[in-house]
Amino acid sequence: MNMPQSTIFALASAPGRSGIAVLRLSGPAATQAIGKLCRPKILPKPREAVLRKIHHVQTSVLIDCALVIFFPAPQSYTGEDVVEFHVHGGRAVINALTESLYQLNFQLAEPGAFTRRAFENGKMDLTEAEAVADLVNAECEAQRRQAMRQLEGDLGKLYETWRAHLTKALAHLEAEIDFSDEELPKDIARDRLADVRGLSLEIKHYLDDRHRGERLREGFTITILGPPNVGKSSLLNTLAKREAAIVSEVAGTTRDVIEVHLDLGGYPITLVDTAGLRESVDKIESEGVRRALARAGHADFKLLVFDGEHWPKLDEATRKLMDDNALVIVNKADLISESNGNSVRLGADLFIATKTGEGIEALLDRLVQEIDLRFANTGQPPLTRLRHRAALEECVGHLNRALVAAAPELCVEDIRLASRALGHITGHIDVEDLLDIIFRDFCIGK
Ligand code: GDP
Repeated sequence: MNMPQSTIFALASAPGRSGIAVLRLSGPAATQAIGKLCRPKILPKPREAVLRKIHHVQTSVLIDCALVIFFPAPQSYTGEDVVEFHVHGGRAVINALTESLYQLNFQLAEPGAFTRRAFENGKMDLTEAEAVADLVNAECEAQRRQAMRQLEGDLGKLYETWRAHLTKALAHLEAEIDFSDEELPKDIARDRLADVRGLSLEIKHYLDDRHRGERLREGFTITILGPPNVGKSSLLNTLAKREAAIVSEVAGTTRDVIEVHLDLGGYPITLVDTAGLRESVDKIESEGVRRALARAGHADFKLLVFDGEHWPKLDEATRKLMDDNALVIVNKADLISESNGNSVRLGADLFIATKTGEGIEALLDRLVQEIDLRFANTGQPPLTRLRHRAALEECVGHLNRALVAAAPELCVEDIRLASRALGHITGHIDVEDLLDIIFRDFCIGK
């Protein structure tokens, strides 16, 4: 691996005003920053926070009194010498310190540069590095748990275990090619090919996971559908007011319908309100209905809302959308009891009234149950990225080819390619060309 020789720095805490801001340096010259900027100049003991006066490198003006921590290589996040300045988080303080670091010829870090160095110095594999970005971006408990599990190395270990099986298969199959006349245990090739077949099935099964890990990273979409005027917008507003809103945008969502991002029972949810489903000659309304139906097609889960006033009469267009991923909800339950009596409170999953709040708690509980069911953990750490999925599909493709190969040499070659595909996920095999893409999604200072 190439050891980056430059010393980089970046603000590791959020930009803007804060009580404390952390500026972090990594690289062979990191300790020089202490000698040039701090009074006293003495290098602090490793991993011990010490209070130092920080002076501007050119003007010698006192910038701040700050905590300084030194993490000597290799026992640091990046594996290089790392120095942290915990200064007061005012813009002027940060600017003055940044200016001094520039003047000392340190380079401003690119997004993800610290984690990239950690990977390049063998402190973590690629799945763990990706988990760092996921943990920084996690907005809900379930996302945090998934990222933390990956950061602990569970995902990388799973892929490496599979790769170890293939390495063993390769060794034995190659031995049979090279030493066919020698005394080798009988049936060795047959046993290894049975292992390969088993592994191919295991990976296929693992891939057939309804994308739960990826969806948890990106957010789970619940779409509200139904005829006009049944209270869809009222339901969206009621749920949005009750649950914590997620402020940031969720990647990949479009803005052609009204949507809110919520933390529902620890899960990241995008709740989408759509135009009422009805036949219309009005061009704009028809377009709204078309988009609503398109959203219904993409939704992870649907809330089909009907009007209590007309219940149990069903709107046909909405009825057609009923399936295993839908809840039938009758809103305006307050009007049912007034007009028809309790006898018609049958045939739906839930009766609610956004006007009175009736049934909203039960709806929320039910939604969390439904989401739990879909994200239920099967034991193995979930697949969290398209990059991993593509590599695993490539791996299975090679394994399947290996199993029907016309000659032992071709079989071995396909197993080798399958093993390489797995190695790409964890970064144990030449991934230089991938690194720019992977670390581009990080924030600066990480
Ligand atoms: P949408 O067109 O389906 O989005 O429906 P809206 O949310 O705009 O609501 C349509 C009408 O139904 C409004 O006048 C709401 O005040 C009313 N409404 C919504 N929820 C309830 C409810 O639970 N009970 C009653 N009686 N009226 C409701």
